[in-house]
Amino acid sequence: MGMGATMAAIVPSFIRQRQKLHDKYSGKKLNVALCGLGTYANILADGFADAQYCRLAGIVTGTPAKAVAWKQKHAIPDQNIYNYQNFDTIVNNKDIDLVYVVLPNSMHKEYVIRAARAGKHVITEKPMANSASDCAEMIKACQDAHVQLAVGYRLHYEPYNMEMKRLGQEKVFGAVRLVEASLGYRVDDANQWRLHKALSGGGPLMNLGVYCLQFSRYVIGEEPVSVTAQFGPNTNPQIFSEVETSITWQLNFPGGAVSNCSSSYNCNVDRVYASAENGFFEMSPAISYGPFRGRTSKAELHFPDINQQTAQLDGIAKLLLENKPLPAHISGEEGWKDMRVIDAIYASAATGRKIVL
Ligand code: NAD
Repeated sequence: MGMGATMAAIVPSFIRQRQKLHDKYSGKKLNVALCGLGTYANILADGFADAQYCRLAGIVTGTPAKAVAWKQKHAIPDQNIYNYQNFDTIVNNKDIDLVYVVLPNSMHKEYVIRAARAGKHVITEKPMANSASDCAEMIKACQDAHVQLAVGYRLHYEPYNMEMKRLGQEKVFGAVRLVEASLGYRVDDANQWRLHKALSGGGPLMNLGVYCLQFSRYVIGEEPVSVTAQFGPNTNPQIFSEVETSITWQLNFPGGAVSNCSSSYNCNVDRVYASAENGFFEMSPAISYGPFRGRTSKAELHFPDINQQTAQLDGIAKLLLENKPLPAHISGEEGWKDMRVIDAIYASAATGRKIVL
């Protein structure tokens, strides 16, 4: 009887809360335009399907055939379809709130700045740009235009990775002493832009190593003070003529922790590990799209296998609908912090010297 009365009190208030949330937004969704319609844009488009707070409302593409296909598949109205030449006229389109830049790395800067100047909030894919100084220009352009800027750091919406961050930052097993993080996959296609430095800014460090760096920084909860790095052997000079095949690096943190990381285009690897004073925690697979596996020195970890893109898009859209600031851990400043270290990793690998940050 007592329990029934308690349940009666709880259930209506829970339903009322959901109803209130529904009324508050009353179907209002943030309208997003995807800029660049390649592989990852397609994955993001799937992410919109279950999104509660945003919709795919527009596209920016240089390929007319893609405009037709996307218009049909995603019911995009003609007035929300842009190419790279007329993109700036998006300033007049009140039906687009945010531009999500999913272009090759070197193009992020230009399109983030153009989107900001058109008064749109912006998400840019990782790595944020080709250098820390480019990141700084992007941040300033968004500040000047009074729009918010986020980097597509999807793992901040993924439960296993956020548990790794919590275990490290809350020192659940004591202070973290050692981090190891590796991400790699085999690249055999010489034609893709990722192998051309002008478009990619670099090899696997730019594309994959940025995740290992992020993991090291958010698990240890400090900024590295110095870095040493080494390029790996070039196992296929015909393909890897402009960017590194693989790279390893070591970061030193002010509290005494060290991090050993590697990223590669000549082997498959996807794992993260942290050793703390009283135990360890780890994941493999860790960084891809899941499903993930993780454990600590005490137990296996079990979290729901979620759609990271939906969680990320909704997490950002909900805050923007509420006119709230986006969290620091996905901000442009966060992207700048990573690029500053990446610049130093490349400088160390090129010179053989330890770089003090
Ligand atoms: P992709 O090659 O599949 O798509 C790139 C798109 O850019 C294509 O539509 C292409 O037509 C367009 N483009 C415009 N100008 C171009 C040019 N000069 N050269 C080449 N392409 C040009 O690449 P992708 O895998 O979709 O990657 C795009 C961005 O998304 C990159 O910054 C990448 O790092 C990022 N990404 C992020 C994730 C993630 O999990 N967050 C996953 C994959 C890619």
